[in-house]
Amino acid sequence: MKSLIKKHINTNRTPVSDASNDLVSEVAEILNGKIIKSRSGSEVLTWIIPEYFKCHKAVLKRLNGDVIADFNKHPLYLWTNSINFKGRVSRSELESHIMTDKTMPDAVPYHYKQGFHIKSSNWGFSIPYNVYKNLNDEEYDVDIEVELNNDKDMFTGVAEAGSGGDTYIFAAHTCHPGQATDGLTNVALLVEIFKTLQKMDLKNTYKFIFGPEYYAAAAFLNQISGEELKKIKGGFFLDLIGGGLQPAFSTSFQGNTFVDKVVEHVFTHKVNDYEKRGYREIVGNDEMFYNGPYYNIPTVTLGEILPKGYHSNDDNYENINFESISQYYNIIMDVIKIFENNSVPILKYKGPLCLSRYNIFIDIRENRNAYRHIEALQILTDGKKSYFDLALDTGADFDFVLDFYNKLIEKKLVSIDKKD
Ligand SMILES: [Zn+2]
Repeated sequence: MKSLIKKHINTNRTPVSDASNDLVSEVAEILNGKIIKSRSGSEVLTWIIPEYFKCHKAVLKRLNGDVIADFNKHPLYLWTNSINFKGRVSRSELESHIMTDKTMPDAVPYHYKQGFHIKSSNWGFSIPYNVYKNLNDEEYDVDIEVELNNDKDMFTGVAEAGSGGDTYIFAAHTCHPGQATDGLTNVALLVEIFKTLQKMDLKNTYKFIFGPEYYAAAAFLNQISGEELKKIKGGFFLDLIGGGLQPAFSTSFQGNTFVDKVVEHVFTHKVNDYEKRGYREIVGNDEMFYNGPYYNIPTVTLGEILPKGYHSNDDNYENINFESISQYYNIIMDVIKIFENNSVPILKYKGPLCLSRYNIFIDIRENRNAYRHIEALQILTDGKKSYFDLALDTGADFDFVLDFYNKLIEKKLVSIDKKD
């Protein structure tokens, strides 16, 4: 995971770029996925795929040669999809071509707007406020040499694990030049998840969609059949994982679907301190496509609260918290465990089970909660409720419920509804 992040972190991953396409290609190769190609300038749903962008050089200098901003030092110095410009500009003319952020005075902020425009019309540099405030010279030299055209394709990757049952989708974006947790770390985490899933014997189907934000979701949805769409029961969009801040999730637009309940259950039982927010309230992103008009797939966002260096070069490799990435690995595998194991148990006995006879006795004085859960689980098992329903009804953790019923199945005291 670390090598994938290191290799791609400082590349100029604008929406349609060799850098984003390279990341998509590498992930598709690791997971044996396929690539959907969308031509820059073409229409996908109601969106137009942005221009292909490649920067050859971009330097802002004082007349004495001192370099103020250099794309080769960090891709964020140049605005996404900046147009070509070479020449000498006055201080006042330069003003409208500079982005800076006083709230993070040493950081290079991310100027992304033109990445969403059909045609770029401006050039510009992002610089730290502490550099900006000392721009007292009368004139500056600008040298920007880029390729900006509709001649190339944007890549969207789709990888799969399993082939039956219901389908759940997972998405993360490959764009955002020179940034770590806004996109890249989430892609790297899903690579690890799907490597694990592809080794498992699965009941359901899981799809991983990776490409530039918004446009990859549009490209994926644009080509799915009605039949495929019908099978998709829920989606997850991952963003900002790895900042080491408080874990958070945003509910789907519907707010109370099976995927919402499963995510909340896992957070309640496995995460000490977390934040639950409404639809698109951590940071709005691709879920607006998946969970948007017509498709309306209930999609939960998994992430963290916004970090201080959000959308700047402070979102870098050194600041990645790998522990929070592995915490999310466990959260997602716990969510998938529920999808994979949620069956409907049917009791094969009447009356309270003689627990000690079957070696599953729990002393109420030693573990009151577990004792009460076992009692309630047996009473509430009606041949209709699933393990997950029973976990919600009793307040027990799904793992506890699954473990209890597995013991009863082993002793032939419970059977599983084959329909499920
Ligand atoms: Zn972003």
